[in-house]
Amino acid sequence: MDYKKLADLLFPNITKPISYYEETVFPNRNLSEGAKVTRLAPSPTGFIHLGNLYGAFVDERLAHQSNGVFMLRIEDTDEKRKVEGAVELIISSLEYFGLKFDEGASVDREIGNYGPYYQSNRGEIYQTVAKYLIETGRAYPCFCSEEELEEIRKQQEAEKVNTGYYGKWAKYRDTSLEEIQKHLDNNESFVLRFKSMGDPEKNFEIDDAIRGRLSIPENNQDVVILKANGIPTYHFAHVVDDHLMKVTHVVRGEEWLSTLPIHYELFKTLGWELPVYCHTAHLMKIDEGVKRKLSKRKDPELGLEFYMKLGYHPATVREYLLTILNSNFEEWRLANPDNSIYDFKFTLDKMSNSGALFDLNKLNDISKNVLVKIPVEEIYDFLLKWAKDYKQEIVNLLVDQKEDVIKLLSVGRNSDKPRKDLVYCEQIFEFISYFFDNYFKVVDDYPENIDDSEAKKILKAYLETYDHSDDQTQWFGKITEIATANGYAAKPKDYKKNPEMYKGHVGDVSTVIRIALVGRSTSPDIWELQQIMGETKVRERVQSLI
Ligand code: GLU
Repeated sequence: MDYKKLADLLFPNITKPISYYEETVFPNRNLSEGAKVTRLAPSPTGFIHLGNLYGAFVDERLAHQSNGVFMLRIEDTDEKRKVEGAVELIISSLEYFGLKFDEGASVDREIGNYGPYYQSNRGEIYQTVAKYLIETGRAYPCFCSEEELEEIRKQQEAEKVNTGYYGKWAKYRDTSLEEIQKHLDNNESFVLRFKSMGDPEKNFEIDDAIRGRLSIPENNQDVVILKANGIPTYHFAHVVDDHLMKVTHVVRGEEWLSTLPIHYELFKTLGWELPVYCHTAHLMKIDEGVKRKLSKRKDPELGLEFYMKLGYHPATVREYLLTILNSNFEEWRLANPDNSIYDFKFTLDKMSNSGALFDLNKLNDISKNVLVKIPVEEIYDFLLKWAKDYKQEIVNLLVDQKEDVIKLLSVGRNSDKPRKDLVYCEQIFEFISYFFDNYFKVVDDYPENIDDSEAKKILKAYLETYDHSDDQTQWFGKITEIATANGYAAKPKDYKKNPEMYKGHVGDVSTVIRIALVGRSTSPDIWELQQIMGETKVRERVQSLI
């Protein structure tokens, strides 16, 4: 068979050799020794999820820890899955979490010398490599219809052999040039298939940077490399791109492990050095005691929008991701409580390969610890920015009462054991919402031992003795007086010792007052809150329950 002739027949317009791209268009990068080149290669489907962020964080750390390059390549070869605005969503979501690309697709232009960064614009490059594979007898056109492929599959199932297009089942593998010519003259559409020389009875070895050395059966499938419309498949496109873009580390989900033999064979056939593959584990959660994969359908927390809508601070999410990415991060954090996470040396070998466990409660705990270290003014700015995007109706409140909001956020934070009340914006607003009359509501009940008329009695006494200029000690002294005058123990422990002697204790009395003022039975220090609320509001709130 004259492969050269076949190649020219199929790709008459492709005239450049691969070396033209390898050397002239995409020369070697001028990077320092050990610098890593990574890429995030999402498909623009309009759904960007935690798994993307998880992988992107690995890419970003590998690149930036080594003075390398982190790029964004858009894998838009699947027309059916393309969604308008998806690229903007990918870029803005990653930016929200503080991940910035050095190179690649951006909202209005492309940055860097290794583009185009949209696969749909790299057609000629893929065809150049495809043509080379035909010339060397390692790719061929296949004219099978869907029905024929289905027929082959049925027969394979009946014979209980592996399904797919390989070996003797690969109908067009050895078709003569004359035959091919006839199909072409008939205007039959065709796909281009890779001619595999692998033998699944044999294993090859490959080092995965997360999983260690793997020994996997060779590929023998003649996979499609160019679809009937000339667009490449993922298998082919990523091999070509990662080679020409000089990517050193391919970080991708473990769902790609099963097709790694195809990618391995493609690289080897083309005589190209393989990138270091890093197959990350799935994100898992515990659901009713069972560990399972996070699912798009069942778990809203898989989508990144979830965190943006609720207003999780990006520093929180980054901190949390590092705890699930590297098993030694938490220990490092304990030893270095005030360091930036970027001081932590991220490594691939400390990554889990059995499934990274994602836990929202843990994220919330981490968030409390991260936020308590962020100055309140910054939290205020973040809250306002969030409100502008997701809760317009509170923007004016936040702007008009900026000083009070900052004071409310500060209560209890400046001690040795600071309060850790703040988690994410939606919750933060809810937490301080009692302050605003339009949002104030009584949500908790009085303590069990206090009925409505008893509560009124306490509140009346409170109003009568209330002096806004009292300091904290004087203020609490008065509450104790109200308590004892009405049959409540001045100290909880007195009540515990002799419960039959009292109606309750001073804590019950202050709970009644707390509920009147903020509507809840727990809150930061009431005296401090009253100072922020001002005398009028304090009196109004108490009065309204009498
Ligand atoms: N486009 C592929 C995906 O979205 C990328 C896999 C890879 O990173 O190579 O899953």
